[in-house]
Amino acid sequence: KIHYQDQFEERMRLPHLNDNLNVTPRQTTFFLKNRVGRLADGIDSLEEKSNYVDDNDRALLRVIKFSSPTSAGAECIDPYCNWVELWVHRAGPRKQIYFEPDSVKAAIVTCGGLCPGLNDVIRQIVFTLEVYGVKNIIGIPFGYRGFVDEELLEMPLSRDVVQNINLAGGSLLGVSRGGADVNDIVDRIQAKQISMLFILGGNGTHAGGKALHEECQRRRMKISIICVPKTIDNDILLMDKTFGFDTAVEEAQKAINSAYIEAHSAYKGIGLVKLMGRSSGFIAMHASLSSGQTDICLIPEVPFNLEGQYGVLKYLEKLMQKKGSAVICVAEGAGQELLQRSNAIDASGNAVLADIGVYLQQKIKNHFKDIGDHADIKYIDPTYMIRAVRANASDAILCTVLGQNAVHGAFAGFSGITVGICNTHYVYLPISEVIECPRLVDPDSRMWHRCLTSTGQPDFI
Ligand code: ATP
Ligand code: MG
Repeated sequence: KIHYQDQFEERMRLPHLNDNLNVTPRQTTFFLKNRVGRLADGIDSLEEKSNYVDDNDRALLRVIKFSSPTSAGAECIDPYCNWVELWVHRAGPRKQIYFEPDSVKAAIVTCGGLCPGLNDVIRQIVFTLEVYGVKNIIGIPFGYRGFVDEELLEMPLSRDVVQNINLAGGSLLGVSRGGADVNDIVDRIQAKQISMLFILGGNGTHAGGKALHEECQRRRMKISIICVPKTIDNDILLMDKTFGFDTAVEEAQKAINSAYIEAHSAYKGIGLVKLMGRSSGFIAMHASLSSGQTDICLIPEVPFNLEGQYGVLKYLEKLMQKKGSAVICVAEGAGQELLQRSNAIDASGNAVLADIGVYLQQKIKNHFKDIGDHADIKYIDPTYMIRAVRANASDAILCTVLGQNAVHGAFAGFSGITVGICNTHYVYLPISEVIECPRLVDPDSRMWHRCLTSTGQPDFI
């Protein structure tokens, strides 16, 4: 364990810190104002109450140890659930900083799909960089593509530019999938003399961030590469939650409510809502739990049959007899094994999923026709409406803390890390650990059982 802890921490350090290249840290004045304020309040030691986080400050990665073989997990399957003794660095401003703010050139890039809160994070990164005294801040347009596409121009960023961007959803910088080779990107980073790179994105983007960090280390560049996990699906390992998820659940609830109204108001109505969740059903599960209007929740982690005595279709028949209407909430990655597989991939190399919503709609329609009955199905796919909204209050706060901590992490001399919230503490984690696989809903967890209790649905197998 100790050995692993060392490796864990070693990987997060800039090469010049690992190799003792004699880069002298200097003291920051980041919290000077704060300290003077506290001094005025009668606290007499500057050192004692300075609000800095020390490099020795750690948060425990795990607080609950599941030891009995019958105990149910809290919510998700997690390959690190036995790492009960591992500690991770607390995020926050350090007294010693490893970059001269005057000479820093910082860049921000947003990759993958849209997610509520991207602008909030960009804004806080810019604010915090400026507080440290950084003057040279740029935005890379349209994801990793923006590094290499000559037609895409970098965007100078400052407090004035980003002041109100949080009032709208989307990303000020634009996003994209696919696009660029790691070596080409590092060439461009070198040519642009970027010394801090903040990368906002999901699993794919983090894999890219890790590759960039490794290539920069190989070239012995003094650059801090810090990722901020952006995944509406909440599918990043080890983190309590990722920004955008809360907002997505809130918006998804509205779609479920509309589906319920439509279904309830129609003669033998069925409302079908497809939500995001390629491999993880967190949005569908939480939206079903919070709305309380879902009769059937289908997620990728839990297989189900459509046909047969215990299938979804038979259960729908019963619901229609009993209630006269029904609401189904399905995650986009659910039931993929029932569908015709295509080998199509998107620009980033992700498999293009077959549309489970359209498939279910057809199947239900045909089933009720076959049994000589009637069903009025209303299918709602709110995906793009949800992704594009602005962050809600709780996500806006999460984005603020993550954005500020990303900058503190860079100044503290970390690289190849990502920022997150772990057991309610804000921490830095090495990228490799969090992207080993997507974080999944545990079908044996208390949370999924709560969802089943709430919907009243049986096992469909
Ligand atoms: P989302 O949650 O929206 O899917 P994502 O970050 O997973 O976000 P992707 O489109 O999968 O989105 O990837 C974003 C970027 O990361 C793309 O430009 C892609 O080329 C790059 N990328 C993905 N995987 C890797 C990898 N293994 N190595 C280097 N770059 C990668
Ligand atoms: Mg992805």
